[in-house]
Amino acid sequence: MLKEKLRSQILGGSLQDFKTHLSGLYKGFYITMDAAQAQYIIKISVNPADAADMAALNSFLSNHQLNEKKLLTAVTGSHSIILTIKVPSLAKNIPNTVNGIVEPIIDYLISHTFSSGCSECGTDMEQINCYEINGSHYFLCDGCKNKIQSSLQANQQEIQSKKSSLVAGLVGAFLGSLIGCILWVLIYHLGYIAGVAGAVTAICAMKGYAILGGHLDKKGVIGSVIIMLIMIFFANKISWSWDAYSALEEYGWTFTEVYQDLGYILEETDLVASYYGELAIGYILTIVCSARSIINAFHESTGSYSIKKVN
Ligand SMILES: [Zn+2]
Repeated sequence: MLKEKLRSQILGGSLQDFKTHLSGLYKGFYITMDAAQAQYIIKISVNPADAADMAALNSFLSNHQLNEKKLLTAVTGSHSIILTIKVPSLAKNIPNTVNGIVEPIIDYLISHTFSSGCSECGTDMEQINCYEINGSHYFLCDGCKNKIQSSLQANQQEIQSKKSSLVAGLVGAFLGSLIGCILWVLIYHLGYIAGVAGAVTAICAMKGYAILGGHLDKKGVIGSVIIMLIMIFFANKISWSWDAYSALEEYGWTFTEVYQDLGYILEETDLVASYYGELAIGYILTIVCSARSIINAFHESTGSYSIKKVN
């Protein structure tokens, strides 16, 4: 995840690099570090000697956050501290930033007799392993890992048993996608091909499907994507017709005539290739901008999950 030179400077080089994350034991505390969209998510497993120590820890963290600009959030879970850190723009500043935020917390934990173990139940009596669950990393005991696994399984069964109503869902997807298409036409009118509007089309289509169809299942995601692709075709055609209409209006053309005869107009003006070229670029930009939302929606719709031990 990080260059070896940087890794070795973070928390005395105690965290091991597993390509997708760092994790290890630092001064007796289990720590994981994930990277996500210009942020680091650092989790420290903590077990207070006394339950009241958690409240004191929380107020220490709020104060700490006020002093550290790069510390975006600092919250506690049942037996963990979860820190969100803004990744510094210069890579060489990463160790100082992370150490500057994490070291004082570790010092606090040590001086207030916290120990470290499972990030769910806090136990340090059992074997603790690091697990990757849906892409994030956690130190857990066997019991808690099994509990999380069965709740993910139950959740998957529940999601898969929910069925949507296809026709109502597709109507919802159509209505939702209109929002993105209007945006597409407006942005095009300003002179840009709008991949962002394509992504809005995808997201609104899926939202619309979920609202009217009752639930966004696998066929809902596929249906929404197909509707998005069709709607973008029309959005692009309307955008071009608008341009052509601006030029032909003075010769007595109506917008409807321009729209219907667009194919002929494009041929006469030698613009067929540019028309389909722009449509292709529009599709590519849309896919680039919306791929993540579509893939996430697809995973959610199937309730799929992954849990594996980090070795
Ligand atoms: Zn546990």
